[in-house]
Amino acid sequence: MTQLSERMRALVQPHLAEIEPYDPAFTPCDINLSANENTYPLPEGVREAVDEALAATPLNRYPDPMSNDLRDELAAWHGVVRENVCVGNGGDELLYNFLLAFGGAGRTLLTCPPDFSEYAFFASLTQTAVERVWRDEATYGLRCEELLAAAVQADLVILTSPNNPTGDVLSIDLAREVCAACPGLVMVDEAYGEFADEGTSVECLLGECDNLVVLHTLSKAFGEAGIRCGYVLAAPDVIEAFAAIRQIYSVNVLTQAAALTAVRKREAFAPVIETIRSERERLLSGLRALTEPLAPQGAVWAGQGNFLLVRLPQASVVRQRLRDEFSILVRDFSYAPGLEDCLRITVGMPEENDAVLDALKTILAE
Ligand code: PMP
Repeated sequence: MTQLSERMRALVQPHLAEIEPYDPAFTPCDINLSANENTYPLPEGVREAVDEALAATPLNRYPDPMSNDLRDELAAWHGVVRENVCVGNGGDELLYNFLLAFGGAGRTLLTCPPDFSEYAFFASLTQTAVERVWRDEATYGLRCEELLAAAVQADLVILTSPNNPTGDVLSIDLAREVCAACPGLVMVDEAYGEFADEGTSVECLLGECDNLVVLHTLSKAFGEAGIRCGYVLAAPDVIEAFAAIRQIYSVNVLTQAAALTAVRKREAFAPVIETIRSERERLLSGLRALTEPLAPQGAVWAGQGNFLLVRLPQASVVRQRLRDEFSILVRDFSYAPGLEDCLRITVGMPEENDAVLDALKTILAE
């Protein structure tokens, strides 16, 4: 992990001296299944429509700070009003802004790791303390009683559904109970929500729980990780706070144009999402066939995102061999607390999934 130079450690704010930057561990490879992107081409006609929208976008004017056209389209989609929506430069910016606005010194964020490591990173940037209710070591299920008890003391909670990297979905009832228990705001990060079974989104609680914030992104199901666009849905006064502290022009004109086009054409993405869901089940059975003989050192968890978590003996060696001998990049979590010997594999196109299964078969046979 890169460390700041001694000179910088003396100059940065004291709480940043030991900061460990988020590392996506990227190496160029023929097949990249490491970052949970959508590896499929955009649906027919979408790229052309995006290109047209980009070509028609003047570059000499500042963007609409609040992305109001996009907000209106998102609001219509989700059955809310513009005042319930704030757009950001990727979900990451909104996560950071969540901590910036509502966290800080003296406040506590409650998380349930193993989860998305950016939560703790943004907490450390904003001097927010982190309280952790670890998931069950074997199943990675949430420990509901402990979570509810800790939520009472927390200023903020972030839960992920489907969770990255374990893939499980939060129940709507538990989300409601956490919202009732927590005196502050509860964010449910649904970055991978479109890949989960219908009826699992906690969005239906927005009317009932005025402390609920639901996070979405166009980076995953909608195949636009490169444009950096995410959004939150929440009560109007929560959105006002997000709006008040944001970098005013963080969502640039090209991003707004590309995002608006994708959201208007959202129906065109349904077949891709369906294919990814069925490829996920195919990959799951393929991985099960490979890991079952290795149990308990080998395991794979059924998940509802566009990725699967798999445990293999000597996972970091396997990951390295996939990269160096097969030019396939997957994510190594074997160093992460609670995820010993775990790799996370993004569900790709059929030929990419076949390639990773074949390569693993070869490696594990040795
Ligand atoms: N939440 C989760 C759980 C994620 O895995 C990611 C991306 N890896 C994000 C939020 C942020 O995505 P983006 O910034 O691309 O919108």
